[in-house]
Amino acid sequence: MELLIGREQQGNQLMVVVDGKPYRIDVNNSVPDSVSRFNPSNGAAHCRIIISTNGIRLENLNEMNSTYVNGESVESCRISPTSVVELGKDQYRVNLSKILKLIGYQPSYSIKHLRRVWDRYDKALLRLQLEDKKKQNQQKLQGILSQVSMLCVIIPSVMPNIPIPAWLRAVLVTGALGMGIYFYIKGNKEDDSFIVKKRELDEQFKEDYICPNPKCKKFLGFTPYDTIKTRKKCGMCNCNFQN
Ligand SMILES: [Zn+2]
Repeated sequence: MELLIGREQQGNQLMVVVDGKPYRIDVNNSVPDSVSRFNPSNGAAHCRIIISTNGIRLENLNEMNSTYVNGESVESCRISPTSVVELGKDQYRVNLSKILKLIGYQPSYSIKHLRRVWDRYDKALLRLQLEDKKKQNQQKLQGILSQVSMLCVIIPSVMPNIPIPAWLRAVLVTGALGMGIYFYIKGNKEDDSFIVKKRELDEQFKEDYICPNPKCKKFLGFTPYDTIKTRKKCGMCNCNFQN
């Protein structure tokens, strides 16, 4: 969207032409002569504002003009809805928020920082899952060991010709039982730690992976960064995301 901004010839009002449609801003004779006229015949104006998904850009259209953004003289620069835009040597202040409201401007927000947030979460989750898998395998191995020791206890009663002293049997039974209890408790603890760690990770992620619109700030869900980037919109407040 392109907005041409200049002084209206007769009434000295500020004129904003949006895609060929004129809007008059401010009362009559409010704009000083140092602001260039808008000429409908050739489209000449003082400056123009270009609004795209990358944000808002202001361009001075004639090097004889002065255009100021936040007090600095500029030829072309990026601006925000809160920038102070002044035209001409008299530094006539443009009511930017009024103009943006008039054209139904919806601000767009950068989400570049969210790539790092997503990548960090994704990696941490994978690490947690791998750790958990490793623990599960360890538990399986421990289960087998426990069964083997039980077998050592059972063998002498099935095959009495293998002499195993009573005291050794007692040691093996106690050992197998102890091992069983130990692995059972340990396994339970480890299950908990995975759930707790995953919950902590998710909670932190929910705090960080949020819509950059200060009026929204809602969690964007467990949706990969690339999907959100392609969607270009917040699913909660419907605001636009920059490319
Ligand atoms: Zn939002």
